[in-house]
Amino acid sequence: MQYAVGLVVLVIVAAGYAVYRGRKRKPVQPQRRTAGNVISMESHRRAKQVASEQQCSSCKRKNGKLIFYAQDNGTVVGLCKDCKDKANKRDLLPL
Ligand SMILES: [Zn+2]
Repeated sequence: MQYAVGLVVLVIVAAGYAVYRGRKRKPVQPQRRTAGNVISMESHRRAKQVASEQQCSSCKRKNGKLIFYAQDNGTVVGLCKDCKDKANKRDLLPL
């Protein structure tokens, strides 16, 4: 009986250690573009929160939810669904 209890404890400890090791070894996300194009996630999140109230960066209309794109110079533009096609043609990165 004592042997069984000891085995259970060992399994629990081993499982906990495996989880701990798994967390530690979490791979770092590779960056998709060069450093000059990196924008902060904080501004990205804020931009998403107010997406429904903002006007389109291209046609200046409040046309519902905007889709945000990163431009080559590092700035972010919010485009309505009508202007989305233009962004796709310019090879902008959707955020
Ligand atoms: Zn637009």
